[in-house]
Amino acid sequence: MNIHESEKLAGILTKLNYKPTEDFNFADVIVFNTCCIRETAEQKIMGHIGSIKKLKKSKPNLKIILCGCMTQQEGKGNEILKKYPYVDYILGTHNISDLENYLISQQNTKINVEQTDGYINDNLPVTRTSMPNAWVNIIYGCNNFCTYCIVPYVRGRERSRSLNSIKEEVQSLVSAGYKEITLLGQNVNSYGNDLNDETTFAKLLNELAKIDGKFRLRFMTSHPKDFTDEVIEAIASNAKICKHIHLPVQSGSTAVLRAMNRKYTREAYIKLVNKIKERIPSVGITTDIMVGFNGETEQDFLDTLDLVEKCRFSSAFCFVYSKRKGTIGYNMTNIVPQEEKKKRIKQLIELQNKITRQENIKYISNTFEILTEGKNDKYQNTYCGRTDCGRLVNFKSDCDIMNKFVKVKIVKGTTATLWGEVIEVE
Ligand code: SAH
Ligand code: SF4
Repeated sequence: MNIHESEKLAGILTKLNYKPTEDFNFADVIVFNTCCIRETAEQKIMGHIGSIKKLKKSKPNLKIILCGCMTQQEGKGNEILKKYPYVDYILGTHNISDLENYLISQQNTKINVEQTDGYINDNLPVTRTSMPNAWVNIIYGCNNFCTYCIVPYVRGRERSRSLNSIKEEVQSLVSAGYKEITLLGQNVNSYGNDLNDETTFAKLLNELAKIDGKFRLRFMTSHPKDFTDEVIEAIASNAKICKHIHLPVQSGSTAVLRAMNRKYTREAYIKLVNKIKERIPSVGITTDIMVGFNGETEQDFLDTLDLVEKCRFSSAFCFVYSKRKGTIGYNMTNIVPQEEKKKRIKQLIELQNKITRQENIKYISNTFEILTEGKNDKYQNTYCGRTDCGRLVNFKSDCDIMNKFVKVKIVKGTTATLWGEVIEVE
Protein backbone atom coordinates (compact mmCIF):
# COMPACT_ATOMS: atom_id res chain seq x y z
CA MET A 1 0.00 0.00 0.00
CA ASN A 2 2.84 2.36 0.84
CA ILE A 3 4.62 1.49 -2.40
CA HIS A 4 1.50 2.47 -4.34
CA GLU A 5 1.18 5.68 -2.34
CA SER A 6 4.79 6.46 -3.28
CA GLU A 7 3.83 5.86 -6.93
CA LYS A 8 1.18 8.57 -6.52
CA LEU A 9 3.66 10.97 -4.92
CA ALA A 10 6.05 10.22 -7.80
CA GLY A 11 3.15 10.85 -10.20
CA ILE A 12 2.67 14.35 -8.78
CA LEU A 13 6.42 15.06 -8.99
CA THR A 14 6.56 13.77 -12.58
CA LYS A 15 3.60 15.98 -13.51
CA LEU A 16 5.59 18.95 -12.21
CA ASN A 17 8.57 17.88 -14.37
CA TYR A 18 10.76 16.54 -11.58
CA LYS A 19 12.96 13.57 -12.55
CA PRO A 20 14.04 10.78 -10.18
CA THR A 21 17.67 10.67 -9.06
CA GLU A 22 19.61 7.70 -7.71
CA ASP A 23 21.83 9.97 -5.59
CA PHE A 24 19.95 12.10 -3.07
CA ASN A 25 22.84 14.60 -3.00
CA PHE A 26 21.53 15.83 -6.39
CA ALA A 27 17.89 16.11 -5.29
CA ASP A 28 15.89 19.35 -5.25
CA VAL A 29 13.05 17.68 -3.38
CA ILE A 30 13.18 14.70 -1.00
CA VAL A 31 9.85 13.17 -0.02
CA PHE A 32 9.84 10.59 2.80
CA ASN A 33 6.79 8.34 2.68
CA THR A 34 6.68 7.08 6.25
CA CYS A 35 5.14 4.13 8.10
CA CYS A 36 4.38 3.84 11.82
CA ILE A 37 2.93 0.35 12.09
CA ARG A 38 5.82 -0.70 14.37
CA GLU A 39 8.28 1.35 16.39
CA THR A 40 11.22 0.11 14.30
CA ALA A 41 9.68 1.63 11.16
CA GLU A 42 9.49 5.02 12.88
CA GLN A 43 13.04 4.80 14.23
CA LYS A 44 14.32 4.05 10.74
CA ILE A 45 12.67 7.09 9.20
CA MET A 46 13.85 9.36 12.02
CA GLY A 47 17.40 8.13 11.30
CA HIS A 48 17.00 9.02 7.61
CA ILE A 49 15.70 12.52 8.37
CA GLY A 50 18.59 13.09 10.77
CA SER A 51 21.11 11.94 8.18
CA ILE A 52 20.21 14.68 5.65
CA LYS A 53 20.68 17.61 8.06
CA LYS A 54 24.11 18.40 6.57
CA LEU A 55 22.83 18.22 3.00
CA LYS A 56 20.00 20.65 3.80
CA LYS A 57 22.52 23.06 5.36
CA SER A 58 24.65 23.04 2.22
CA LYS A 59 21.57 23.27 -0.07
CA PRO A 60 19.05 25.59 1.63
CA ASN A 61 16.70 25.43 -1.37
CA LEU A 62 16.34 21.68 -1.03
CA LYS A 63 12.76 20.85 0.00
CA ILE A 64 12.37 18.13 2.62
CA ILE A 65 8.84 16.79 2.77
CA LEU A 66 7.32 14.11 5.01
CA CYS A 67 4.11 12.21 4.41
CA GLY A 68 2.56 8.81 5.20
CA CYS A 69 1.12 7.24 8.36
CA MET A 70 3.69 8.62 10.78
CA THR A 71 2.75 12.23 10.10
CA GLN A 72 -0.93 11.60 10.82
CA GLN A 73 -0.39 10.65 14.49
CA GLU A 74 -1.68 13.22 16.95
CA GLY A 75 0.97 15.81 17.79
CA LYS A 76 3.58 14.09 15.62
CA GLY A 77 4.00 16.99 13.17
CA ASN A 78 5.06 19.41 15.92
CA GLU A 79 7.26 16.76 17.54
CA ILE A 80 9.10 16.22 14.24
CA LEU A 81 9.54 19.95 13.59
CA LYS A 82 10.95 20.45 17.09
CA LYS A 83 13.52 17.72 16.53
CA TYR A 84 14.20 18.41 12.85
CA PRO A 85 13.39 22.13 12.23
CA TYR A 86 14.86 21.87 8.72
CA VAL A 87 11.89 19.75 7.52
CA ASP A 88 9.93 22.04 5.16
CA TYR A 89 6.51 20.45 4.93
CA ILE A 90 4.54 17.69 6.67
CA LEU A 91 1.68 16.18 4.73
CA GLY A 92 -0.96 13.83 6.21
CA THR A 93 -2.36 10.65 4.64
CA HIS A 94 -5.56 12.44 3.62
CA ASN A 95 -3.79 15.26 1.83
CA ILE A 96 -1.21 13.87 -0.56
CA SER A 97 -2.71 15.74 -3.51
CA ASP A 98 -1.63 18.98 -1.75
CA LEU A 99 1.98 18.13 -2.56
CA GLU A 100 1.36 19.72 -5.97
CA ASN A 101 0.05 23.01 -4.51
CA TYR A 102 2.90 23.17 -2.06
CA LEU A 103 5.58 22.73 -4.72
CA ILE A 104 3.93 25.31 -6.98
CA SER A 105 3.06 27.97 -4.43
CA GLN A 106 5.58 27.25 -1.61
CA GLN A 107 3.09 28.46 1.01
CA ASN A 108 4.27 28.99 4.56
CA THR A 109 2.11 26.34 6.24
CA LYS A 110 4.39 23.64 7.59
CA ILE A 111 1.85 21.02 8.71
CA ASN A 112 -1.13 19.85 6.67
CA VAL A 113 -2.74 16.83 8.34
CA GLU A 114 -6.43 17.65 8.18
CA GLN A 115 -8.69 14.57 7.94
CA THR A 116 -11.08 14.39 4.99
CA ASP A 117 -13.06 11.24 5.76
CA GLY A 118 -15.60 10.38 3.10
CA TYR A 119 -13.62 12.01 0.29
CA ILE A 120 -11.64 10.02 -2.28
CA ASN A 121 -9.38 11.65 -4.83
CA ASP A 122 -9.53 9.24 -7.76
CA ASN A 123 -7.64 11.46 -10.15
CA LEU A 124 -4.10 11.54 -8.82
CA PRO A 125 -1.41 10.96 -11.44
CA VAL A 126 0.53 7.71 -10.89
CA THR A 127 4.09 6.85 -11.91
CA ARG A 128 3.98 3.06 -11.79
CA THR A 129 7.14 1.16 -10.88
CA SER A 130 6.13 -2.48 -10.70
CA MET A 131 5.37 -3.70 -14.25
CA PRO A 132 3.94 -6.33 -14.90
CA ASN A 133 2.00 -5.75 -11.68
CA ALA A 134 -0.18 -2.72 -11.05
CA TRP A 135 -1.52 -1.81 -7.60
CA VAL A 136 -5.11 -0.58 -7.42
CA ASN A 137 -6.70 0.81 -4.24
CA ILE A 138 -10.28 -0.32 -3.80
CA ILE A 139 -10.93 0.80 -0.21
CA TYR A 140 -9.10 3.26 2.04
CA GLY A 141 -9.04 3.38 5.85
CA CYS A 142 -10.13 0.84 8.43
CA ASN A 143 -13.04 0.53 10.89
CA ASN A 144 -11.80 -2.49 12.82
CA PHE A 145 -9.75 -1.01 15.65
CA CYS A 146 -7.69 -4.08 16.49
CA THR A 147 -6.31 -3.04 19.88
CA TYR A 148 -2.64 -3.23 18.81
CA CYS A 149 -3.01 -1.31 15.55
CA ILE A 150 -2.44 2.35 14.68
CA VAL A 151 -3.91 2.14 11.16
CA PRO A 152 -7.51 3.24 11.96
CA TYR A 153 -6.14 6.32 13.71
CA VAL A 154 -3.84 7.39 10.89
CA ARG A 155 -5.83 6.27 7.84
CA GLY A 156 -9.37 7.25 8.91
CA ARG A 157 -12.66 5.42 8.34
CA GLU A 158 -13.39 3.00 5.50
CA ARG A 159 -14.01 4.65 2.13
CA SER A 160 -14.75 2.44 -0.89
CA ARG A 161 -14.12 3.61 -4.42
CA SER A 162 -17.02 3.18 -6.83
CA LEU A 163 -17.10 -0.09 -8.73
CA ASN A 164 -17.14 1.75 -12.05
CA SER A 165 -14.11 3.81 -11.26
CA ILE A 166 -12.15 0.68 -10.24
CA LYS A 167 -13.33 -1.16 -13.35
CA GLU A 168 -12.24 1.70 -15.61
CA GLU A 169 -8.80 1.80 -13.98
CA VAL A 170 -8.30 -1.97 -14.27
CA GLN A 171 -9.50 -1.93 -17.88
CA SER A 172 -7.03 0.79 -18.83
CA LEU A 173 -4.17 -0.95 -17.00
CA VAL A 174 -4.85 -4.21 -18.83
CA SER A 175 -4.97 -2.29 -22.15
CA ALA A 176 -1.64 -0.67 -21.23
CA GLY A 177 -0.04 -4.12 -20.89
CA TYR A 178 -0.19 -4.81 -17.13
CA LYS A 179 -0.65 -8.53 -16.62
CA GLU A 180 -1.26 -8.62 -12.91
CA ILE A 181 -3.58 -6.32 -10.98
CA THR A 182 -3.38 -6.34 -7.18
CA LEU A 183 -6.40 -4.86 -5.41
CA LEU A 184 -5.49 -3.11 -2.17
CA GLY A 185 -7.35 -2.44 1.07
CA GLN A 186 -6.71 -2.83 4.81
CA ASN A 187 -9.66 -5.21 4.66
CA VAL A 188 -10.76 -5.83 1.08
CA ASN A 189 -13.74 -7.82 2.36
CA SER A 190 -15.30 -4.63 3.75
CA TYR A 191 -15.35 -3.24 0.20
CA GLY A 192 -18.78 -1.78 -0.59
CA ASN A 193 -20.11 -1.67 3.00
CA ASP A 194 -20.13 2.13 2.95
CA LEU A 195 -21.56 2.46 -0.57
CA ASN A 196 -25.07 1.64 0.65
CA ASP A 197 -26.04 -0.32 -2.45
CA GLU A 198 -25.64 -3.98 -3.38
CA THR A 199 -21.92 -3.69 -4.05
CA THR A 200 -19.77 -6.31 -2.30
CA PHE A 201 -16.18 -7.49 -2.70
CA ALA A 202 -17.44 -10.72 -4.33
CA LYS A 203 -19.38 -8.66 -6.89
CA LEU A 204 -16.31 -6.53 -7.61
CA LEU A 205 -14.17 -9.65 -8.16
CA ASN A 206 -16.73 -11.17 -10.51
CA GLU A 207 -17.04 -7.91 -12.48
CA LEU A 208 -13.27 -7.42 -12.83
CA ALA A 209 -12.78 -11.03 -13.92
CA LYS A 210 -15.04 -10.31 -16.92
CA ILE A 211 -12.57 -7.79 -18.36
CA ASP A 212 -11.09 -9.09 -21.63
CA GLY A 213 -7.42 -9.95 -22.00
CA LYS A 214 -4.89 -12.26 -20.37
CA PHE A 215 -4.21 -10.98 -16.88
CA ARG A 216 -4.29 -12.06 -13.25
CA LEU A 217 -6.15 -10.53 -10.33
CA ARG A 218 -4.72 -10.56 -6.81
CA PHE A 219 -5.91 -8.82 -3.66
CA MET A 220 -4.82 -8.08 -0.12
CA THR A 221 -5.56 -8.02 2.79
CA SER A 222 -8.51 -10.14 3.96
CA HIS A 223 -9.84 -9.97 7.51
CA PRO A 224 -10.97 -13.50 8.47
CA LYS A 225 -14.13 -12.22 10.18
CA ASP A 226 -15.50 -10.92 6.86
CA PHE A 227 -14.44 -13.66 4.44
CA THR A 228 -17.74 -14.69 2.85
CA ASP A 229 -18.73 -17.84 0.95
CA GLU A 230 -19.43 -15.59 -2.06
CA VAL A 231 -15.79 -14.47 -2.10
CA ILE A 232 -14.61 -18.11 -1.89
CA GLU A 233 -16.95 -18.92 -4.79
CA ALA A 234 -15.71 -15.96 -6.86
CA ILE A 235 -12.09 -17.08 -6.42
CA ALA A 236 -12.91 -20.73 -7.14
CA SER A 237 -14.92 -20.04 -10.28
CA ASN A 238 -12.87 -17.35 -12.05
CA ALA A 239 -9.65 -18.49 -13.73
CA LYS A 240 -8.31 -14.91 -13.70
CA ILE A 241 -8.46 -14.64 -9.90
CA CYS A 242 -5.28 -16.03 -8.34
CA LYS A 243 -5.65 -18.88 -5.88
CA HIS A 244 -3.73 -17.04 -3.18
CA ILE A 245 -5.29 -15.64 -0.02
CA HIS A 246 -3.40 -13.55 2.52
CA LEU A 247 -5.41 -14.16 5.67
CA PRO A 248 -3.75 -12.64 8.74
CA VAL A 249 -4.51 -14.71 11.85
CA GLN A 250 -2.40 -12.69 14.37
CA SER A 251 -2.70 -15.32 17.13
CA GLY A 252 -3.79 -18.92 17.61
CA SER A 253 -5.29 -18.26 21.04
CA THR A 254 -8.93 -17.25 21.36
CA ALA A 255 -8.15 -15.30 24.56
CA VAL A 256 -5.47 -13.25 22.78
CA LEU A 257 -7.70 -12.76 19.73
CA ARG A 258 -10.36 -11.39 22.06
CA ALA A 259 -7.85 -9.03 23.69
CA MET A 260 -6.84 -7.94 20.16
CA ASN A 261 -10.52 -7.29 19.23
CA ARG A 262 -10.19 -9.54 16.17
CA LYS A 263 -13.80 -10.80 16.41
CA TYR A 264 -13.12 -14.46 15.53
CA THR A 265 -12.01 -17.47 17.51
CA ARG A 266 -9.18 -19.90 16.87
CA GLU A 267 -11.75 -22.54 15.89
CA ALA A 268 -13.56 -20.21 13.46
CA TYR A 269 -10.25 -19.38 11.75
CA ILE A 270 -9.23 -23.05 11.36
CA LYS A 271 -12.72 -23.86 10.04
CA LEU A 272 -12.44 -21.06 7.48
CA VAL A 273 -9.02 -22.27 6.30
CA ASN A 274 -10.33 -25.83 5.91
CA LYS A 275 -13.40 -24.60 4.01
CA ILE A 276 -11.22 -22.58 1.60
CA LYS A 277 -8.84 -25.52 1.04
CA GLU A 278 -11.73 -27.87 0.37
CA ARG A 279 -13.34 -25.59 -2.25
CA ILE A 280 -10.01 -24.46 -3.79
CA PRO A 281 -7.54 -27.37 -3.45
CA SER A 282 -4.68 -25.54 -5.22
CA VAL A 283 -4.92 -22.48 -2.92
CA GLY A 284 -1.90 -20.96 -1.18
CA ILE A 285 -2.79 -19.36 2.15
CA THR A 286 -0.34 -16.93 3.75
CA THR A 287 -0.71 -15.05 7.01
CA ASP A 288 0.55 -12.46 9.51
CA ILE A 289 1.27 -13.60 13.07
CA MET A 290 2.24 -11.52 16.07
CA VAL A 291 3.93 -12.76 19.23
CA GLY A 292 4.11 -11.11 22.63
CA PHE A 293 0.85 -9.19 22.62
CA ASN A 294 -0.12 -8.01 26.13
CA GLY A 295 -1.21 -10.93 28.29
CA GLU A 296 0.01 -13.66 25.92
CA THR A 297 0.86 -16.63 28.15
CA GLU A 298 3.13 -19.56 27.29
CA GLN A 299 -0.03 -21.62 26.66
CA ASP A 300 -1.43 -18.92 24.32
CA PHE A 301 1.83 -19.03 22.38
CA LEU A 302 1.71 -22.85 22.20
CA ASP A 303 -1.81 -22.48 20.78
CA THR A 304 -0.36 -20.24 18.06
CA LEU A 305 2.28 -22.87 17.21
CA ASP A 306 -0.46 -25.52 17.12
CA LEU A 307 -2.60 -23.41 14.77
CA VAL A 308 0.39 -22.93 12.48
CA GLU A 309 0.89 -26.73 12.40
CA LYS A 310 -2.79 -27.24 11.58
CA CYS A 311 -3.17 -24.54 8.91
CA ARG A 312 0.13 -25.25 7.11
CA PHE A 313 0.52 -21.76 5.63
CA SER A 314 2.69 -21.49 2.53
CA SER A 315 4.47 -18.62 4.31
CA ALA A 316 3.93 -16.15 7.14
CA PHE A 317 5.04 -12.67 8.12
CA CYS A 318 5.93 -12.97 11.80
CA PHE A 319 6.11 -9.86 14.01
CA VAL A 320 6.97 -9.02 17.59
CA TYR A 321 4.24 -6.86 19.12
CA SER A 322 5.30 -3.23 19.32
CA LYS A 323 3.17 -0.87 21.40
CA ARG A 324 1.76 2.13 19.58
CA LYS A 325 0.69 5.33 21.30
CA GLY A 326 -3.01 6.10 20.87
CA THR A 327 -4.12 2.46 20.61
CA ILE A 328 -5.98 0.57 23.35
CA GLY A 329 -3.04 -1.83 23.64
CA TYR A 330 -0.77 1.05 24.65
CA ASN A 331 -2.38 1.32 28.08
CA MET A 332 -2.61 -2.41 28.81
CA THR A 333 -0.41 -3.44 31.69
CA ASN A 334 0.18 -7.19 31.24
CA ILE A 335 3.28 -6.70 29.10
CA VAL A 336 5.29 -9.71 27.88
CA PRO A 337 9.04 -9.32 28.69
CA GLN A 338 11.30 -8.58 25.71
CA GLU A 339 13.38 -11.73 26.25
CA GLU A 340 10.25 -13.87 26.12
CA LYS A 341 9.08 -12.13 22.93
CA LYS A 342 12.46 -12.84 21.30
CA LYS A 343 12.34 -16.50 22.28
CA ARG A 344 8.81 -16.88 20.92
CA ILE A 345 9.45 -15.18 17.57
CA LYS A 346 12.50 -17.39 16.98
CA GLN A 347 10.50 -20.54 17.71
CA LEU A 348 7.62 -19.41 15.51
CA ILE A 349 9.86 -18.54 12.55
CA GLU A 350 11.68 -21.88 12.83
CA LEU A 351 8.39 -23.78 12.75
CA GLN A 352 6.99 -21.80 9.80
CA ASN A 353 10.26 -22.20 7.87
CA LYS A 354 10.06 -25.96 8.34
CA ILE A 355 6.46 -26.01 7.07
CA THR A 356 7.29 -23.72 4.11
CA ARG A 357 10.13 -26.07 3.13
CA GLN A 358 7.89 -29.15 3.43
CA GLU A 359 5.14 -27.50 1.38
CA ASN A 360 7.65 -26.30 -1.25
CA ILE A 361 9.01 -29.83 -1.73
CA LYS A 362 5.49 -31.02 -2.60
CA TYR A 363 5.57 -28.77 -5.69
CA ILE A 364 8.57 -30.60 -7.22
CA SER A 365 7.82 -32.19 -10.65
CA ASN A 366 4.64 -30.10 -11.06
CA THR A 367 4.31 -27.52 -13.85
CA PHE A 368 2.93 -24.04 -13.17
CA GLU A 369 2.11 -20.98 -15.19
CA ILE A 370 4.25 -18.13 -13.91
CA LEU A 371 4.31 -14.43 -14.68
CA THR A 372 7.95 -13.33 -14.91
CA GLU A 373 8.28 -10.25 -12.72
CA GLY A 374 11.98 -9.77 -12.14
CA LYS A 375 15.58 -10.88 -12.53
CA ASN A 376 17.55 -12.66 -9.83
CA ASP A 377 20.79 -10.67 -9.95
CA LYS A 378 22.70 -13.26 -7.91
CA TYR A 379 22.71 -15.69 -10.84
CA GLN A 380 23.25 -15.30 -14.59
CA ASN A 381 20.18 -15.23 -16.90
CA THR A 382 17.94 -16.03 -13.97
CA TYR A 383 14.39 -14.73 -13.73
CA CYS A 384 11.75 -14.99 -11.04
CA GLY A 385 7.99 -14.87 -10.83
CA ARG A 386 5.02 -16.22 -8.93
CA THR A 387 2.70 -19.12 -9.39
CA ASP A 388 -1.03 -18.47 -9.33
CA CYS A 389 -0.97 -19.58 -5.66
CA GLY A 390 1.70 -17.00 -4.82
CA ARG A 391 4.91 -19.09 -4.60
CA LEU A 392 8.09 -17.39 -5.78
CA VAL A 393 9.99 -19.43 -8.41
CA ASN A 394 13.45 -18.88 -9.94
CA PHE A 395 14.26 -20.13 -13.44
CA LYS A 396 16.94 -19.65 -16.09
CA SER A 397 16.35 -18.45 -19.63
CA ASP A 398 18.72 -17.30 -22.40
CA CYS A 399 16.07 -15.15 -24.05
CA ASP A 400 14.35 -12.14 -22.48
CA ILE A 401 11.16 -13.37 -20.83
CA MET A 402 10.43 -10.38 -18.58
CA ASN A 403 6.70 -9.64 -18.14
CA LYS A 404 5.76 -12.85 -19.98
CA PHE A 405 3.65 -15.79 -18.88
CA VAL A 406 5.82 -18.94 -18.91
CA LYS A 407 5.20 -22.58 -18.06
CA VAL A 408 7.78 -23.78 -15.54
CA LYS A 409 8.43 -27.26 -14.15
CA ILE A 410 9.58 -27.20 -10.52
CA VAL A 411 12.85 -29.08 -9.95
CA LYS A 412 14.00 -27.95 -6.49
CA GLY A 413 12.47 -26.39 -3.37
CA THR A 414 14.15 -24.53 -0.49
CA THR A 415 12.62 -22.49 2.36
CA ALA A 416 12.73 -19.23 0.52
CA THR A 417 12.14 -20.19 -3.09
CA LEU A 418 11.37 -22.83 -5.65
CA TRP A 419 13.60 -23.49 -8.67
CA GLY A 420 12.21 -24.57 -12.03
CA GLU A 421 12.89 -25.16 -15.73
CA VAL A 422 11.09 -23.21 -18.44
CA ILE A 423 8.92 -25.54 -20.56
CA GLU A 424 7.02 -23.00 -22.67
CA VAL A 425 6.92 -19.23 -23.24
CA GLU A 426 3.65 -17.43 -24.14
N1 SAH B 1 -5.07 -4.58 7.54
C1 SAH B 1 -4.28 -5.72 7.60
C2 SAH B 1 -2.92 -5.54 8.20
C3 SAH B 1 -2.29 -4.22 8.28
S1 SAH B 1 -0.84 -4.11 9.21
C4 SAH B 1 -5.02 -6.78 8.39
O1 SAH B 1 -5.87 -6.52 9.18
O2 SAH B 1 -4.67 -7.91 8.20
C5 SAH B 1 0.12 -5.49 8.71
C6 SAH B 1 0.47 -6.38 9.85
O3 SAH B 1 1.30 -5.70 10.77
C7 SAH B 1 -0.69 -6.88 10.70
O4 SAH B 1 -1.34 -7.96 10.13
C8 SAH B 1 -0.04 -7.24 12.00
O5 SAH B 1 0.38 -8.58 12.02
C9 SAH B 1 1.19 -6.32 12.04
N2 SAH B 1 1.02 -5.27 13.06
C10 SAH B 1 0.07 -4.32 13.14
N3 SAH B 1 0.24 -3.58 14.24
C11 SAH B 1 1.32 -4.07 14.88
C12 SAH B 1 2.00 -3.74 16.09
N4 SAH B 1 1.58 -2.76 16.87
N5 SAH B 1 3.09 -4.47 16.43
C13 SAH B 1 3.53 -5.49 15.64
N6 SAH B 1 2.93 -5.84 14.50
C14 SAH B 1 1.83 -5.15 14.11
FE1 SF4 C 1 -5.09 -2.71 11.73
FE2 SF4 C 1 -6.95 -4.49 12.33
FE3 SF4 C 1 -7.49 -2.53 10.60
FE4 SF4 C 1 -5.83 -4.48 9.90
S1 SF4 C 1 -8.01 -4.71 10.38
S2 SF4 C 1 -5.54 -2.30 9.60
S3 SF4 C 1 -4.78 -4.94 11.78
S4 SF4 C 1 -7.06 -2.31 12.77
